Amino acid sequence: MKLVNHKYDGEISPVYFSLAMKRSYNVFIIYFGIFILCMAAFGYPANCIPVFFWLIGTLVARYGIDHLWVRWNFLFYVIISAGWISYFIYFYGWNCGGTNFIMPLMLMSMFSVYDTFFTKITFTVFLFLLRMALFFHCQTYPVIYPLSTGQMLILQVVNTILSFVIMGVICITFSTNLQKAEKHLLLYNMELRQQAGTDPLTGLYNRRRMEEILDNHIAANPNEIFCIAIGDIDFFKSVNDTYGHDCGDLVLQELSALFKDKTMGKGHVCRWGGEEFLFFFPYVNLDQSSTLINDIKMSVSYHPIVYKDTALHITMTFGVEEYDYSSDLSALIKQADEKLYYGKTHGRNTVIF
Ligand code: GH3
Ligand code: MG
Ligand code: MG
Repeated sequence: MKLVNHKYDGEISPVYFSLAMKRSYNVFIIYFGIFILCMAAFGYPANCIPVFFWLIGTLVARYGIDHLWVRWNFLFYVIISAGWISYFIYFYGWNCGGTNFIMPLMLMSMFSVYDTFFTKITFTVFLFLLRMALFFHCQTYPVIYPLSTGQMLILQVVNTILSFVIMGVICITFSTNLQKAEKHLLLYNMELRQQAGTDPLTGLYNRRRMEEILDNHIAANPNEIFCIAIGDIDFFKSVNDTYGHDCGDLVLQELSALFKDKTMGKGHVCRWGGEEFLFFFPYVNLDQSSTLINDIKMSVSYHPIVYKDTALHITMTFGVEEYDYSSDLSALIKQADEKLYYGKTHGRNTVIF
């Protein structure tokens, strides 16, 4: 069934509420059809006439769902459901299962998104009072259209089945809505998390995400070695000054792609700051990680970046440090930073470990 935005005072439209009403009306229409057939079969064709009015009323109310405010639609839903229950019990008595239709009506009111807790309770009390009033009426006055036991049994079965179908339709509509909303929220959260941990220019993890990864790793593997390295582009400012900021951005993007490729399956890399990158190699000692970083350093220097017919030759300096169990993360990063600084002041394009 097509989902349309139903009118709802300009707020989020309760599409599923309207859909549940529409589906209930579909069942009601079938029910009135069956009821007319029953009356004809029982030999009371005159009893079919008022049911035609209920049928027409239901069709009009169903049509109104796409055209009226949702509060009006619910009011009509209540009038049709509660009206039919009252009509049915008034004319056919207590023993034909007419009260079954109170349950779907109560269920529907519980799912109305705009009603307050108080309104829902009030509505439940109203349904209870209606049921009691009809019961006492039946105790006091005789049935207007008395039926045989067999006929009452048939109506009891029809009313029970159809009211259960309506309840099922309502529950399925809302549970599907809930599942969809939950899935949507889950995907949205995942997307937000992904965005919050990603550097928009390079697509690498950002500092925050890397800190999270390192913290989690230390917490889960407190007795395992690992290494980190901080790499900084040499004379990057002059790239910006000479070729412009766009060229600088291109360099950052191309190097990031290279880092991603080189660390794939071996570790993680993030954009730590402007033109600084932090590499993380779990379960790897200083020698092994220095070899990996040396390979990355060589790849950077042998990878000309072409910007507007100019091939730029970029170099980087790295400081590598091994986790020694006792130091905390910030001390570890500080040590790697100091090594990087040492490399910067001793010729650049080097790996200090
Ligand atoms: P060193 O070899 O000592 O590291 O020199 P450097 O020029 O690379 O270092 P410096 O800290 O002087 O300059 C870093 C530059 O990086 C300055 C800043 O404009 C540039 N930068 C930082 N973030 C970005 C960015 O997102 N895009 C571009 N294009 N440039 C950036
Ligand atoms: Mg720097
Ligand atoms: Mg630099």
